[in-house]
Amino acid sequence: MRRTRIKTSNLRLSASQSLVNMKIRSNNFIPAARVAIQDADLQTAVSSGANAGFTKRQTAMFADGQEHGQAMRQQAAAIKRHGLNQLPDLLEQAEVAMQANGIQVLWAVDGAEANRHVLEIARRHGVKSVVKSKSMVTEETGLNEALETAAIEVLETDLGEFIVQLGEETPSHIVVPIVHKTKASIRDLLIEKAGMPPTDDVTEMTHFARRTLRQKFLAADMGVSGGNFIIAETGSLCLVSNEGNARLTTSLPRVHVALVGIEKVIPTVEDYATLTQVLPRSATGQSMTVYTHMIHGPRRPDEPDGPEHVYVILVDNGRSRIYNSDYTEALACIRCGACLNACPVYRITGGHAYGWVYPGPIGAVITPLLNGLENASPLPYASSLCGLCQEVCPVEIDIPRMLLDLRRDLVEMGEGGALWDWGMKAWAWGNQSPRLFNLGGKAAAIGQKLLPKNLPGPLGGWTDYRTAPSFAKKSFHQLWQERQEEDRD
Ligand code: SF4
Repeated sequence: MRRTRIKTSNLRLSASQSLVNMKIRSNNFIPAARVAIQDADLQTAVSSGANAGFTKRQTAMFADGQEHGQAMRQQAAAIKRHGLNQLPDLLEQAEVAMQANGIQVLWAVDGAEANRHVLEIARRHGVKSVVKSKSMVTEETGLNEALETAAIEVLETDLGEFIVQLGEETPSHIVVPIVHKTKASIRDLLIEKAGMPPTDDVTEMTHFARRTLRQKFLAADMGVSGGNFIIAETGSLCLVSNEGNARLTTSLPRVHVALVGIEKVIPTVEDYATLTQVLPRSATGQSMTVYTHMIHGPRRPDEPDGPEHVYVILVDNGRSRIYNSDYTEALACIRCGACLNACPVYRITGGHAYGWVYPGPIGAVITPLLNGLENASPLPYASSLCGLCQEVCPVEIDIPRMLLDLRRDLVEMGEGGALWDWGMKAWAWGNQSPRLFNLGGKAAAIGQKLLPKNLPGPLGGWTDYRTAPSFAKKSFHQLWQERQEEDRD
């Protein structure tokens, strides 16, 4: 068995190659964001969806007081850090425990290998149709395309993902894949692509989707899921969901395959108890999701239902590289989406502008880390660095610090451009002596008076939508000196 190895040597992130199959369009962030800003429907849908998520999260997280909410966050953060510190050992422990439960464990270095495993399992069991519950890892690997190319029917069963699939789109949010869509656009899609009788009633639309999906669940040969956590001590695969589709996906078909990122392993059941409290609070503002699953293997002889075969594929796909870098903390993410809802940039651009699977603040960090900075160079700048992403993160990931470090890496790679390099060199030179600094300040103040209100060329980005602040009439140094003199008089 070939297996993923987390090496201890440091690897240079900027030299990475894309290890994923899904097309990466992150370098188009700026033009894509411009288009998104002009889309009135997207603006309405994303801002109201993100705002609702943000408000619900605030209420749920602090329902028992600020102190309790913050304590939960600290506990969850400590669990994830502790888990990451011993990740190689935990993975081995989890593999042994899962195998003891009858789960067949496979390892995938990249997305292509993960897909190959799934196709091989499908061939072995004569699979013709697959139902899927929500899984971001399979978005990374492009599993749907791989299955379709092999003439295997694949259907997303999470309602949002089902709509995404009908619309031949990609999810625009980690938790709410269709946050960018209005009710009218969903209705039209269901009528046009799924044959729904015309209706404006949301309950009727949901019932239609449910009836359609039920038939597919009953006929499917294989269920594919992700995994929110794997508990190393018990070998349990844990999933949280609200629609019941994960339960049907993992129990009705005769084969269940779960693709799980290697960072999802946690040490104990007690840890799971903490994380299942912060995850739904942060993701959907619920104290608990409607369904919480702990899967321990295939159906046993005395059990009435469940799959005959359960496989877990532990997917690396660039995570080892992150683990061995200064960005290990990014692997603590539990994919709750709270930082997306809080981010002023995400709220304006929506998720598709980020050009790959993970949008928002955490996407701006892990997309360059997984795919190479050169393939996502605008993303570390897609942030005002207001810090709200860190404040809402249930595992206290310091996203602003990592965004700044990625900007530094980009400059070191020479991605800042000649203007940036020249400007920084001039700034460094001017700061070498107080005299030069004062002269520079005076020259800039005079220069500003001579420049038009709308700055020319690349500087125009500052003044297209805002007024450039004027230089103060007197510098702090002058004011300080004047004050000292007044005190002496
Ligand atoms: S970085 Fe934090 S807030 Fe953002 S999705 Fe991950 S866990 Fe949630």
